[in-house]
Amino acid sequence: MLTIDGPSGAGKGTVSRMVASRLGWHYLDSGALYRAVGVAASWANLDLSDSAALVRCAFDTTVTFREQAGAEMRVIVNGVDATDELRLETTGAVASAIAAIPEVRSALKERQRAFRVAPGLVADGRDMGTVIFPDAPYKVFLTASAEERAERRYKQLKDKGVSVTIDGLLREILARDARDAQRTVAPLRPAEDAVLIDTTGLAIDAVVQRVLALVPTPVA
Ligand code: C5P
Repeated sequence: MLTIDGPSGAGKGTVSRMVASRLGWHYLDSGALYRAVGVAASWANLDLSDSAALVRCAFDTTVTFREQAGAEMRVIVNGVDATDELRLETTGAVASAIAAIPEVRSALKERQRAFRVAPGLVADGRDMGTVIFPDAPYKVFLTASAEERAERRYKQLKDKGVSVTIDGLLREILARDARDAQRTVAPLRPAEDAVLIDTTGLAIDAVVQRVLALVPTPVA
C-alpha cells in the first residue's frame, strides 16, 4: 500500500498511475470521488450551502471506474460517463467546497478503504496517508511551486483546446490550496512518516523512479 498526497498540479495523478502500473497494483483517484459528488450535485441543482443535501448526495452517488487497456480510465457517475466533466476546473472548485464538509468526508471514507485489495493499492489524494490509510507502509507527499503547477495545467488544457490564462490558473490554484490546507477536517498536510518530493523542475520519469525506489519490488 502506497499513498501519494499533495496539492493539485503536483503530478500526483500521472505519477500514481505510472507507479501503480509498474507495480501491478490497483489505483485509487480519491479526488475523482469528490469530483463525482460535485458533478452529481450540479446535475441535481443542489445548493452548495445545503450541507444536508450534499451529504445525502455523497451517500447516494454511485461511482465506478472503468479501466480500458491502453486508454484513459473512464469514470461513470450514476450510470453516466462523466470523465470529461470531471476534469473541468469548475468541477474541481465545487469538489473542493464539498470536500470541506466533514460528513461528506466520512460518507466517502469506507468507499475509499474498500479499494485496498491484493496485490496492492496506490492511493492518490490529500489525506490518504493521514486519515484514510494512516497505517500505509509507504507514503509520499508531492509538491511543486504554484507557478510550475499552473504552467503544467496550462499546457494540459491548451493541448485539449481549452482557452485559459496562466494568471487565472495560478489564482485558482492558490485559492484551492488555501481552502484545502485551511479546512478544519483532514487539511492538506504531509503525514509525519511521508517522504517529501519536490517535483519542481523534475521530469515525470524521475519522480516515478524516486517513488518506486521507496517500494521494494518483488523479484520476478
Ligand atoms: O485531486 P483533485 O484535484 O481531483 O481533487 C479535487 C478536490 O477534491 C481537491 O481540491 C480537494 O478539495 C478534494 N479532495 C480532498 N481529499 C482527497 C482528494 C480530493 O479533499 N483525498
